[in-house]
Amino acid sequence: MNSVTGLDRRVAVLGAGLSGLRAAFDLERRGFVATVFEARSEVGGRARGQWCAGHWMDGAWPVLGSRDRSLARWARDLGIGDALLPLRPLQTTLRSNGVAVPVDGLSLRGASQIPGPRFWERPKLLRSGRLMQRYAKWLDPMFPERAADLDYRSMRDHVALYFGRGNLEFWLAPEIQATYGDSVEELSRVAMLLKMQALGIGERRPASPGLPRRPLLELAQAAAERLNILRETVVTRVDEEPAGGFRIEAIDGAGEHNDSSFDAVVVAVGAEQAGSICARLLAPAERDFFQAMQERPAVTLSVALEGVDSGLPSELRFPQSSGSAISSLVIEPGQPGGRVPEGRSQLVALARDAFAQRWSDMSDDVVAKNLMHSLELVMPGIRGRVLTSRLGRGRVPFFAVGSYRRLAVFQKVQRDRRALGRRLYWAGDYLSGSGFESASLSGLRAANALARDFE
Ligand SMILES: Cc1cc2nc3c(=O)[nH]c(=O)nc-3n(C[C@H](O)[C@H](O)[C@H](O)COP(=O)(O)OP(=O)(O)OC[C@H]3O[C@@H](n4cnc5c(N)ncnc54)[C@H](O)[C@@H]3O)c2cc1C
Repeated sequence: MNSVTGLDRRVAVLGAGLSGLRAAFDLERRGFVATVFEARSEVGGRARGQWCAGHWMDGAWPVLGSRDRSLARWARDLGIGDALLPLRPLQTTLRSNGVAVPVDGLSLRGASQIPGPRFWERPKLLRSGRLMQRYAKWLDPMFPERAADLDYRSMRDHVALYFGRGNLEFWLAPEIQATYGDSVEELSRVAMLLKMQALGIGERRPASPGLPRRPLLELAQAAAERLNILRETVVTRVDEEPAGGFRIEAIDGAGEHNDSSFDAVVVAVGAEQAGSICARLLAPAERDFFQAMQERPAVTLSVALEGVDSGLPSELRFPQSSGSAISSLVIEPGQPGGRVPEGRSQLVALARDAFAQRWSDMSDDVVAKNLMHSLELVMPGIRGRVLTSRLGRGRVPFFAVGSYRRLAVFQKVQRDRRALGRRLYWAGDYLSGSGFESASLSGLRAANALARDFE
């Protein structure tokens, strides 16, 4: 479906992660001519993984939500919706004090049955609906900076105030730990409220978490097939040209320098790279934004296992007080044509922040060995079933208190600069929230803004 909006204008998209691919895909559909620059030989960015003896070894935490509508729509547009969806539903269990209890933290009835909180904290759950209604008008996953006025309190203070510390430790902290880690005392409550909204916590029809039937990377690959991608091409610098437009300097896989000109640029390479590639174009307020950006290390261990534990995929969560180096793990039984062969299972363990930080300077082998040891402690005997394993390491954005206020300033500068004619746009999870759906939404937002400016 090509429209005339783009009038064949040339757009450079820097980065072929989910945010960049989403932006490029959408721009092409609107009639722009997108060229995607990707430093690596493969697309997908941090959604990468690899096949190993019929097992898909994820490089990141693989759980999606049934309300991840942007990803679902994109998959359908690419004609692979039926291959990836519907999600395989996950059954969730909380392991506390050596006892594993099935939990449903998304419905208030389910939340009230989670063991751990004091009895007087349970009725406080009823406040959830009223609070979410009060905040709803500020919560928009595509424009998270709209909630900047709420960004003066941490998740810990918010939850302790309204729901009590027991509900923090056993209900909400485990619900968000796979997305934002363990630092609830620093995490902005806006990040938590946006996540609660995405999960539909307390609503009549909350999201159901699940696993895609095929690797999410296939979404990136399907998009890439329709796009012009310059692989193994590292962008080193972006400059504004005196007559308008931008000059992109890049080095390709053969070490050749490659300079080209574009009418507009979407920068989707991750915050640190974005700040340095575009350093010459940044206003002081933009420079401050990139300098203040916070990230945390994320570590996952993907393990191919002999045998099947149960017919359904399940997630096992450990509250912080359990002392385990693992915060959550998912086990997925195999199925024909899926990510895991029949008769086998795939496990992905997500490390606690403290573990990821403590081992951040160590080699992959040492980290994998230690995480495997922690896995053996929570699942005794598992080592004997391991066929192969793969460590995933990366950095993910962290939205401490104040992040959304800085984001609001950054987005205001973008509006001002665009009004003055600068056709430079940003996409990436650091602008919207950690995770695949947020990355896709940020790409869509960049494409929308660009298309509007050229209209
Ligand atoms: C180990 C791990 C665990 C994770 N766990 C979770 C989790 O539990 N929950 C969660 O919500 N999210 C998690 N994520 C995060 C999730 O994967 C990301 O939010 C999402 O994939 C980000 O997509 P993006 O497009 O914004 O960035 P990226 O995927 O990083 O894409 C950026 C692309 O730009 C390319 N690039 C960089 N520099 C240049 C350059 N100079 N020139 C050209 N190209 C360049 C990169 O190669 C990359 O392909 C995890 C990630 C990792 C790695």
